[in-house]
Amino acid sequence: MVQINDMYYAISPDEEIAASGECGGAVTSILKFLLEEGIVDAVLAVKKGADLYDAVPTLITDPAEVIETAGSLHCGTLNMAKVIHTYLDGAKDMKIAVTTKPCDAMTIVELMKRKQISQDNVVMIGINCGGTLPPVQAREMIEKFYELDPDTVVKEEIAKGNLVIETADDTEKEISIDELEDQGYGRRTNCRRCETNIPKMADLAMGNWGVIGPQAGKATFVEVFSKKGAEILDKAIKANVLKVQDPVPKGIEIRANIDKAMVNLANKWQSRNFEESDELMNLDQYLDEFDKCIKCYGCREACPICFCKECSIESESVNWVPKGEIPPSPMFHFVRMLHMVDSCTNCGQCEEVCPAEIPLARIFHKINVELQDVFDYHPGYDVEQKPPLSVIDKEPSEE
Ligand code: FAD
Ligand code: SF4
Repeated sequence: MVQINDMYYAISPDEEIAASGECGGAVTSILKFLLEEGIVDAVLAVKKGADLYDAVPTLITDPAEVIETAGSLHCGTLNMAKVIHTYLDGAKDMKIAVTTKPCDAMTIVELMKRKQISQDNVVMIGINCGGTLPPVQAREMIEKFYELDPDTVVKEEIAKGNLVIETADDTEKEISIDELEDQGYGRRTNCRRCETNIPKMADLAMGNWGVIGPQAGKATFVEVFSKKGAEILDKAIKANVLKVQDPVPKGIEIRANIDKAMVNLANKWQSRNFEESDELMNLDQYLDEFDKCIKCYGCREACPICFCKECSIESESVNWVPKGEIPPSPMFHFVRMLHMVDSCTNCGQCEEVCPAEIPLARIFHKINVELQDVFDYHPGYDVEQKPPLSVIDKEPSEE
């Protein structure tokens, strides 16, 4: 019987899935199995759209279609929590399995606390993540630094501190991620600061780190984090939809060391970015930044933690943000901040959509990290742990 904290190397025995998968297709096989067995009604995973730079969240109910989602799309920062909450009614009437990078999983946990996503109905198949790339900038970077045509790229991955780019004609070039990032390319800025690479809050965490020896690149390292995850993996192994073996002890050590090195790198980026924004702790500086706002409300729409159907800042009775005024009253940002900042999971969506290029994610992440120290509260880990400031128990009419 599989137990919480168990670790395995896993591979799909289905040759087509193994070949299509990023590292042996274990994730694809588990998702397909969950659908075939009726353990879930649907799978929410990620498909390649127009090209490698276009990651499309896709809801699948036909097990035969799951294979179309095999492979890792490193340009996809998808806000899976928002998709479940907004388009799938929080999975309240449907059991779904969803692939989650750590920021997706953490945000789902925050929405589960707020009863906006059903904890019982969602299986989180966690995907380890060392960072995602912004698609338009990634194409530019591939032309500029790798001198390759971005349309010929078939694979990108971060390995041993380098960003490796591979093209259809087997050309492989790698450049140090530090070098790319020092020049303003590489991973998204919020990903650089992210300290959670292994989604421990998901039911299972799957990744390539720690797979060494003959299985390197061919199998996925699976770690079990919940009873639900243990039961699913147990069933999948017993049904022969997954071939597993014990991980090589050295591999476990290497995986832990890479994780530690990535956390150190994230802390370095936090110091660097937060020092740059030290002045942002000054009220005048906040006002200067928020003065650029054009009131498109994009940040609020993109923020997965802003879940209310009716936003209090637009309430006629309070009138925090009078209509017809641009820039809006800074109360818009301060009230929003008060409502979400203790639970911010540094997903970066707010900054990504802001047409005024306000460094929103940097501001909120910095405040969030300070609050973590003050309240000893780490968002996104434990469904039972309530946030210290946010109101989470709303009446349905207020949602
Ligand atoms: P497959 O069978 O190929 O299935 C992959 C699954 O990932 C599919 O279901 C697909 O829907 C889903 N997926 C693809 N792109 C995304 C996305 N952007 N967001 C959410 N889901 C997605 N492993 C590590 O150990 N260290 C890392 O640093 C690391 N970084 C990664 C960064 C990204 C952006 C991604 C997507 C994956 C990363 N991985 C990392 C995980 C690794 O690449 C493999 O996904 C994992 O080993 C599973 O391989 P598999 O063959 O079993 O998966
Ligand atoms: Fe203002 Fe930017 Fe938010 Fe739009 S996305 S409301 S411009 S801060």
